[in-house]
Amino acid sequence: MENAGTRASGGLRQQELHFPPLLNGADYLVSVVDHLTKDEVGPRDLKYAVLHLQAAIEVLLKERLHREHWALVFSDPGQANLRRFHEGDFESCTTKQAVQRLRSIVGCDITDDERSALIALAADRNALQHYGLTQNAHAVEARAGRVLDFLYRFIHTELINPTIGTADESLSAELNLVSRGVRSIDAFVKQRMRRLRGGLKGYEPRTIDCPACGQNALVLAASQLQHRCLFCEKINHRAPIMRFHLRRGERGFRRECPRCHDHALIDGIHVASETAPAPVCFTCNCVIPEARHTLIDHPAERDV
Ligand SMILES: [Zn+2]
Ligand SMILES: [Zn+2]
Repeated sequence: MENAGTRASGGLRQQELHFPPLLNGADYLVSVVDHLTKDEVGPRDLKYAVLHLQAAIEVLLKERLHREHWALVFSDPGQANLRRFHEGDFESCTTKQAVQRLRSIVGCDITDDERSALIALAADRNALQHYGLTQNAHAVEARAGRVLDFLYRFIHTELINPTIGTADESLSAELNLVSRGVRSIDAFVKQRMRRLRGGLKGYEPRTIDCPACGQNALVLAASQLQHRCLFCEKINHRAPIMRFHLRRGERGFRRECPRCHDHALIDGIHVASETAPAPVCFTCNCVIPEARHTLIDHPAERDV
């Protein structure tokens, strides 16, 4: 996995090539932290946080691909051309392609949740450029915090050689700022979750992860098709919530609920009342603990 594609460049050249993108990425992250850790985070802060976070994602993921092989940075590696690469005259891969290549070719450890957060952020950025930021501030902040945390770890595990460390002092200083920022955003999210705990009390069997902000604060209303997240305040509709959890879940299909007999049961959901992922019925709108045992008795029914 180590610098396979750049072997020909030689030691010194390699460093010259590699430090600027890394510094650049760290610089964007410092700006993200600046915007997100203000006392009052306004719409303009969110806008620049999203734009700079997306810029950091692009720079850092592509830098890792580049170290594996420069052709991987092209949208279509089959059409890669060294002259055009050096001139910067080519269509580069999307965030989605970059994540996919990092996982399958480079062998980077990127979880499904991290992948979703990275791709959701790319969507935020596109929406921002076309329609302005319509997402709720808390949702953007929580998601940005998660991506920031991922990138910080990605820099350390994938871009800084642990045996060499960071030779560059300004890089170390910037990374320290980023680390402090990650902790403070994380603290903000935790603090808000703690404050919400009172409001969530008694609703634990109905509380699941929110598709918008990713926090475990979406309360399924007993007899409705719309459900509100207490963390980001977003009203979520039944169908998109189910799609989100189907995509994320271990099984990817719905099956029959033993209580209401609707085919609205999805497995592997994080429910506040359960220690392990559990089945949730989106007609009963709560966890169905006894359905854990019915999976073997009743063959699963695939979605059509
Ligand atoms: Zn939410
Ligand atoms: Zn049910």
